[in-house]
Amino acid sequence: MEVVILGSGVYSGTPKPLCNCENCSKARKFPLYRRTRFSIYIPKIRALIDPSPDLHYHLEHLNERIEHVFITHAHFDHIGGLPELQIFKHIRLYGHPKTLQVARYLQKRFVGESRWRWEYFPLEFSRWYDFGFRVYHFKVPHQPIEVAGGFIIKIGSKKIAITGDTGPEILNDSRALEEMKGADLLVADMTHKHSIPQAHLGVDDAIKLAQTVKPKKAVFAHISHANYPHEELEEMVKPYMVARDFMHINI
Ligand SMILES: [Zn+2]
Ligand SMILES: [Zn+2]
Ligand SMILES: [Zn+2]
Repeated sequence: MEVVILGSGVYSGTPKPLCNCENCSKARKFPLYRRTRFSIYIPKIRALIDPSPDLHYHLEHLNERIEHVFITHAHFDHIGGLPELQIFKHIRLYGHPKTLQVARYLQKRFVGESRWRWEYFPLEFSRWYDFGFRVYHFKVPHQPIEVAGGFIIKIGSKKIAITGDTGPEILNDSRALEEMKGADLLVADMTHKHSIPQAHLGVDDAIKLAQTVKPKKAVFAHISHANYPHEELEEMVKPYMVARDFMHINI
């Protein structure tokens, strides 16, 4: 089975406009180093995780139908591209009730309601749901937003854990860690060089999370232009991976 990282970057992307840091300068010269805003696609169930503001570009590249949409939280970089889904008349959206409120507003304001059959499936935290595939939504510390969560998606025998944006306190959440254990793939936040309490994981804590969850494969994503250069990160996180835009991972 395949998982596609559509976007590997943070809200500002890389290059960030007007920034001349090493990563941004390199990304302007070499498209390989560009990072669009965070998003993932699972071809097997045609599922999108987080409609990023770069969704049009992602869909253009992907050229596939989306049927399921999971939203980790209602920060702009994770939900801002939702109106781009207007090309699909029927989709099913999953997330916390507060997150879906924002999604419904965006649909109403920018897409319309009468001709679109968009179905909303509010998920409570910390319980499994069965939709033909299984899904578990767990709360993550990510201030100042009121609710943010990660997803564990089980498709057949394969288990994919996605933290979304999370502070390092996730390392103390034994229940979420237990559910993520032994995932075939862990996609985890690794925004900055160093963790920001209640907000994002840094390099050391992202590695610590992978070492705790013990997935078969782990890929770190949501990487800021202010993080280490890509190749340095790759060395630091071995044997785990550092996401790039449009990276295909076999699990
Ligand atoms: Zn984010
Ligand atoms: Zn920069
Ligand atoms: Zn966020």
